[in-house]
Amino acid sequence: MPVTIEKIRCIQTAPAGIRLVIVKVETSEPGLYGLGCATFTQRPLAVVEAVTQYLDPFLHGRDIHQVTDIYQAANMSSYWRNGPVLNNALSGVDMALWDLKGKQANMPVHDLLGGKCRMAAPVYVHASGNTIEETCDHAGELWQQGFRHVRLQVAVDGQATYGTKSDLQVAAEIDSPTNPHNLFEPADYVRLAPQLFEQARTQLGDEIELLHDVHERLPGPLTLQLAKDLEPYRLFFLEDSLPPEEIDHFRLLRQHTHIPIAMGELFNNPNEFVPLVKERLLDFIRIHLSQVGGLTPAWRIANLCEFFGVRTAWHGPGDTSPVGHMANLALDLACPNFGIQELMFMDENTQAVFPGCPEIRDGQMWPNDQPGLGIDIDEEAAARFPYPDHPYQGAWPAIRRRDGGIVKP
Ligand SMILES: [Mg+2]
Repeated sequence: MPVTIEKIRCIQTAPAGIRLVIVKVETSEPGLYGLGCATFTQRPLAVVEAVTQYLDPFLHGRDIHQVTDIYQAANMSSYWRNGPVLNNALSGVDMALWDLKGKQANMPVHDLLGGKCRMAAPVYVHASGNTIEETCDHAGELWQQGFRHVRLQVAVDGQATYGTKSDLQVAAEIDSPTNPHNLFEPADYVRLAPQLFEQARTQLGDEIELLHDVHERLPGPLTLQLAKDLEPYRLFFLEDSLPPEEIDHFRLLRQHTHIPIAMGELFNNPNEFVPLVKERLLDFIRIHLSQVGGLTPAWRIANLCEFFGVRTAWHGPGDTSPVGHMANLALDLACPNFGIQELMFMDENTQAVFPGCPEIRDGQMWPNDQPGLGIDIDEEAAARFPYPDHPYQGAWPAIRRRDGGIVKP
């Protein structure tokens, strides 16, 4: 008798104040379940509806072993596909099925994918500050703690700058006319960022690997300017230097600079990667595993990239749950073309909700080698951290130019 899907449900929790959606696939075998990350923190309630109203009834009674067929069938069942919300829902189910397969085989997921290519995954962490000095000091502390890869972000004085405290202040607002909390002027930022990296190399030396995230906030010509101005500081990569709507500009960037390029956390459709990869217009893919449809499509994309010399850098911010981080880690260990893993520190509350959070040591993320994804959820603990109050349940706040125009996130 095959083990079948009995019930698919969502657990909503926010132990670090970020709205997470965890999918739990319960089976016909008592006590056997799988966990997946379906987090889309700007639209969590829509994802929960997609799971409970559509995927749960559609997949009831299916053999849990048929991971690929379930992915294909569920993806086609909406006719229109490859968009956010439905992909998040599908990602949660897909990861949970891999978790189940590992538990049944008594193997960690990385073993199901061919086994470890490395013992642990080197990570990069975030340093930020309101001033260049603050950011460099923060990066220096992280280096002292053993992290060899650090992303640097600095605030433009009086502006909402991505990756800094000044950007977080705007999060409480939904939208308003331009004010000191939501203002962003691209040219001011492009003048400041190279000064940050100049100081970082002076203060921190040549050995540390430095990264930077533009977060798609610049128009094409300013991106090109920034990339060229950053070249002397030998970045590990420059991330999301252009928005997904302007991917043709990556060709221009490639022709004019040798800065390593990372892109992809905003892509939903697994096919969006293909032109960039086959033209070798990027060096690292930045996939959000709970946005692209789960482990199944991510593994295929990673394999495609391997043939073109493109390395992985799976998205790993605070809105990736620890379940999602463990799925990232399974791929990090199994992919020959692994590049780097983004890490957000998991606080005490998060570790209480998710027993089995990965161990961080020597600047690397280490597996626990437990069957499946190697992580669990304590539902009683999860219930102690409901979503924080927010009028629109977590929508991304609007960032505006001085003239009032909207800036991409
Ligand atoms: Mg990013």
